[in-house]
Amino acid sequence: MQSINGKSLTALLLVTALTFSTSATSSLQNLKTNMEGKHVRYTVKVDVKNVFEMGRYAKWLQKNGYDVAGYSWRKGEVEVITDMAGIEKLNENHLQGFTLEEAGDLAVDSRYLNPAKVEQKLKDLNAKYPQFTKLEQIGTSLQGRGIWALLVSTTPLTDSAEYAAKPSIIFDGMHHAREVMTSEVVMDVAEFALDNLDKNTGDAELLKRWNVWVVPMLNVDGNNLVWTQSSYWRKNARGDGSSTWGVDINRNYPFNWNKCNGASNSKFSDAYRGPSAASEPETNALMSLAFKVRPTASLSYHSYSELVLYPYGCNGVTTGDNALVSSVANELAAMLPADNGNGHYDPGTPWQLLYDVDGDSMSFMHGEFGAIAYTFEVNQSFQPSYDLKAPTVQKHRKAWSFFLHRLEKGLVTLRVVDGRTNEPANAQIGISNIQLVQGEKPFKTNGAGYYFKVLNPGDYALTIQLQDGRSQVLMIKVDASAQSHTIVIN
Ligand SMILES: [Zn+2]
Repeated sequence: MQSINGKSLTALLLVTALTFSTSATSSLQNLKTNMEGKHVRYTVKVDVKNVFEMGRYAKWLQKNGYDVAGYSWRKGEVEVITDMAGIEKLNENHLQGFTLEEAGDLAVDSRYLNPAKVEQKLKDLNAKYPQFTKLEQIGTSLQGRGIWALLVSTTPLTDSAEYAAKPSIIFDGMHHAREVMTSEVVMDVAEFALDNLDKNTGDAELLKRWNVWVVPMLNVDGNNLVWTQSSYWRKNARGDGSSTWGVDINRNYPFNWNKCNGASNSKFSDAYRGPSAASEPETNALMSLAFKVRPTASLSYHSYSELVLYPYGCNGVTTGDNALVSSVANELAAMLPADNGNGHYDPGTPWQLLYDVDGDSMSFMHGEFGAIAYTFEVNQSFQPSYDLKAPTVQKHRKAWSFFLHRLEKGLVTLRVVDGRTNEPANAQIGISNIQLVQGEKPFKTNGAGYYFKVLNPGDYALTIQLQDGRSQVLMIKVDASAQSHTIVIN
């Protein structure tokens, strides 16, 4: 029920007053006084032994309508952002063995990126490395801010044959406005990759084989609200002029939107899915880039909790690629040490480690394109000191570089040619052992007849079908190295 506008805050105060019990304890009275009608950040301290126990707490809180900001199971703390009614409900309900602390308000370190700095940095990189970059405005926010993507590649001409012959990965940051470190990590992907290309060191090879798209800040309006209004703002700036409620743009994607109670229909919830699938321009910005790029892989950065999440978000559901996806998640998590040096990131699906999620970008990237997709939850708080930027981006460099090299081991490249015209063909590809049972779209070639798919080791039958029904079956064995096939269908 967080609202920026005075009108809505008045309404909230009224509701709070009505529901506030006259027999409230003095500590609740103090909380009420301190809140001044606002949503406040609270730390719920619980006694847990592992990430799965903490996941059960997070699920309980989410099901009961709390904005679960993040958690650290090592510290035994869940952070919720709620109002007086929410605090009363916590006290009345059955969450066993918890204590509650009001968390202090934090100012955001002014060195973190804002929308103007993101735009300027991307323009500077584009100007410095014109031969390795392409800058694109992929959308415009509700308040008219540009949403920017930078292609980093040795083949930056997107209409060239060389570009189309390489797989693409999309890195995105800041779906959620308050998660300020995520834009830093994604911006660093571009900066680090380009610096290395210039010096012609090891990772330069990756950019010869991949088209790397970076979108450091998707939620530009929300981030502006973080700087100007509320440091814990999460959603976009959807409103009606007199009030701003916001949509959770990471619950607004059309793939399995509103499928499993993984978001809220209430516009005052911090997980409001929006009035319809893909209703928000920020969601559409990433979607339109993805439809153009048809990504083979996708890494999305959120904060916080130190998790490596993989699809899907709905309870009990995994993907047809789960053998590969879960083992790579384990490898990624093991190489990402926790910020406090105690252990490392934890891998799992959202429904295992957090709560049910639907309409999220990770599920969209997998369900629409078959991309190998992960969501990282970085750090142990939203707005840590900027001093934590360097260690965070450094550990994530290692992770994404490892990830791209790891994917190449199982990368299958198909080039499909229509034998009657000798032209690249539009084809659909069916892959034995990969069942599409969650509403996933069929695998498809890009405009130049290429399809890229990362597969777990094993034997596969690929059925390649042209639009007029002509088809061919290709038997392949995937082991530990990339392979390419040109299929001419007569
Ligand atoms: Zn997030």
